[in-house]
Amino acid sequence: MDDVYRTLRQLYESTPVLVAAYDGFDRLRYANSAFRSAFFIKDGETPFWPDLMRRNFMAGRGTVIRNDDFEAWLTGTLARRGKTSFRAFETDLVGGRWLWMTETVQKDGWMLCIASDITSLRADEREIRQERDFALKAASTDDLTGAVNRRFAMGRLADMLRQEEEDERFGCLAVLDLDHFKLINDRYGHNIGDLVLRDFTSRIQSQLRRTDCFGRLGGEEFGLVLPHTTIRQAQLLVERMLVIVRRSRPLIERPDMAYTFSAGIAAGRFGDSVADLYARADAALYAAKRSGRNCTFLEDTEPGQSTVSG
Ligand code: GH3
Ligand code: MG
Ligand code: MG
Repeated sequence: MDDVYRTLRQLYESTPVLVAAYDGFDRLRYANSAFRSAFFIKDGETPFWPDLMRRNFMAGRGTVIRNDDFEAWLTGTLARRGKTSFRAFETDLVGGRWLWMTETVQKDGWMLCIASDITSLRADEREIRQERDFALKAASTDDLTGAVNRRFAMGRLADMLRQEEEDERFGCLAVLDLDHFKLINDRYGHNIGDLVLRDFTSRIQSQLRRTDCFGRLGGEEFGLVLPHTTIRQAQLLVERMLVIVRRSRPLIERPDMAYTFSAGIAAGRFGDSVADLYARADAALYAAKRSGRNCTFLEDTEPGQSTVSG
């Protein structure tokens, strides 16, 4: 078997096909020579995917990004990256090369990327295919925040519950709702309210593993789908988010302006429907609100430890 692996490695180094693997934190852990040269990665470098994209964007090379605001593009792209077990799409590089990229994600979050050069193939229909991709992306995105929308997040929740047969530890749903958001709108205006929703989204997204899915369920209510996560792990994650959001000061000109959220968490059980799990997380959220907000509650249990600290 060792011979086979050694030979495979040599073949990977000599093929023009791009091959790479990222771990669950989206750090590049392997890239063959074709991949390294297409994305300007030095031997032995293991950048995080967002950093790799950012540095190539700044240098005007690598993936073509059709958005002048790189961070907005990144938020929208991260919201969808690695949330399904397989994805294939066309993408182009500065300089005119086109790639057919596939992403295969396994349960622990590791992702295999394989891309072939398709520059000379079916170029005439490319625009139509890209427009279709943009339309699909728009249909799953919340315009205001760049998070995925309710439909997409509920789809990931359904995927998570479908895995119950093979996996006894199959995950949690957290429902997050901003506290007294009506007051923020009343006091600072609707535009500032919108800005708070965007600030919240980027702070939460910075804490996620790639297999986690964060979506806007409506208004100032958000859902966090956490596959392969126990309720205790989910609680730790949400409590860290509580601390980070409490510390946020989204208005430079109003350094006294802060906001908080409350959360309810429930773990998937055998035979759960999306509605069952959502109802338990929502009931826990309601309990968190009733107990004074700015805290997280687990389903059917006592309050989390971080109730009003911070
Ligand atoms: P609670 O702590 O109990 O959750 O109180 P709350 O004020 O956050 O909850 P409530 O449901 O009473 O009010 C939600 C407010 O969110 C009312 C609505 O105007 C506002 N809202 C919903 N969507 C948006 C939006 O896209 N932008 C802004 N700025 N406000 C929004
Ligand atoms: Mg609210
Ligand atoms: Mg609400």
